[in-house]
Amino acid sequence: MRTTVGIIGAGPAGLLLARLLHRAGIDSVVLESRDRAYAEARQRAGILEQGTVDVLRECGAAGRMDREGLRHDGIELRVDGARHRIDFPALTGGRSVMVYAQTEVVKDLIALRAEDGGPLLFGATALAVEDAESDAPRVRFTHEGREDVLECRYVVGCDGFHGVSRTAVPAHVSHVFGRDYPYGWLGVLADVPPSSDELVYAAHERGFALLSMRSPEVSRLYLQVPDGTDAADWSEQEIWEELDRRLATHDGWTLRRGPVTAKSVTPMRSYVHEPMRHGNLFLAGDAAHIVPPTGAKGLNLAVGDVVTLARALAHERRTGSAARLERYSADCLRRVWQAERFSYGMTTMLHTDPGADPFERRLRRARLDRVVTSRTARAELAEQYTGLPLP
Ligand SMILES: Cc1cc2nc3c(=O)[nH]c(=O)nc-3n(C[C@H](O)[C@H](O)[C@H](O)COP(=O)(O)OP(=O)(O)OC[C@H]3O[C@@H](n4cnc5c(N)ncnc54)[C@H](O)[C@@H]3O)c2cc1C
Repeated sequence: MRTTVGIIGAGPAGLLLARLLHRAGIDSVVLESRDRAYAEARQRAGILEQGTVDVLRECGAAGRMDREGLRHDGIELRVDGARHRIDFPALTGGRSVMVYAQTEVVKDLIALRAEDGGPLLFGATALAVEDAESDAPRVRFTHEGREDVLECRYVVGCDGFHGVSRTAVPAHVSHVFGRDYPYGWLGVLADVPPSSDELVYAAHERGFALLSMRSPEVSRLYLQVPDGTDAADWSEQEIWEELDRRLATHDGWTLRRGPVTAKSVTPMRSYVHEPMRHGNLFLAGDAAHIVPPTGAKGLNLAVGDVVTLARALAHERRTGSAARLERYSADCLRRVWQAERFSYGMTTMLHTDPGADPFERRLRRARLDRVVTSRTARAELAEQYTGLPLP
């Protein structure tokens, strides 16, 4: 098999890249190890930055999002029962975010790929990227029980944190930066209308809680739990009781309960692999970087990477100049590190750290106080949350 751009992974990064390349007249093949049903059902992100919304609109992938997505103009910070609203448009000159589940973005992009007629192979597992430094890199993969080779001009690793593409970068070239956190998120989906019109980020001495939503009928709720927690150890009753404690307010607000339909624990991690390019292998999305989900940045960063890459590839096709491809890693990393900084800051401000000493606990308190009392601090949060402009 032969193509111009071999894309490993059909998450948001790989699928959006395939769509953008198709519109630029550049052919690609997408290899995805899972089957379609699994890829479409994987519960993950839900907040799309303004820039992500704009990109989906520009590439014709926003029809259903514009009908079913929920525009959000703010979030609530709930600190020990007191409510503080962060008003995005007022603080950022009109920006907002869209609540539209990653599962739906993925479904929409898979449907578009089928319309575009470009190859998207489910059940195709990349085993290795070979000759990444040459002008003819190859992806060795298995599909329907057979081993095959995809010959490319460029390979893009969009295969998430646990993929294989990153391993093709030699150890002496790789620089890795990261942080593991001593807590994770126990997340539940519940068939009950959200108890708030906007997301609620609650900082409580028992730990962080987040009230989010997937649709007007479905709530998404999270609890900070110790690292290594097994979701099976929490009964539905215990989850609702703990959410009640951490989300409680002084003004009689109540949390609506409903049947829990899914329950899982997500570890929290910050991770950056530099560089994001080695020869003709490019890394994009979670394959190159991870942020803890508190800042809602992961999917949006993946979108920023593939927009940058698609533009660079189109530029090369038009002009013959590889200058933008040369800059890909540096261009993306500037944005990535801003998102890392913001996600780390939100995470450490809102969670209780069991290992924190009294000095660190007071500092965290002071950061929370600063955000709820200073317009400047709220504007900084709002600007980062709604997203830095795409390059
Ligand atoms: C609980 C949770 C909440 C989150 N909330 C948010 C949020 O609100 N906002 C936000 O922006 N982000 C959020 N994120 C992060 C976001 O989901 C990820 O950053 C996003 O999925 C990254 O997309 P990706 O395409 O880079 O990688 P992925 O979505 O991981 O896709 C990688 C794909 O590659 C495939 N693959 C892997 N290995 C191979 C192989 N060897 N061969 C072929 N295919 C392979 C995988 O099956 C997968 O389909 C959240 C994440 C979690 C876990």
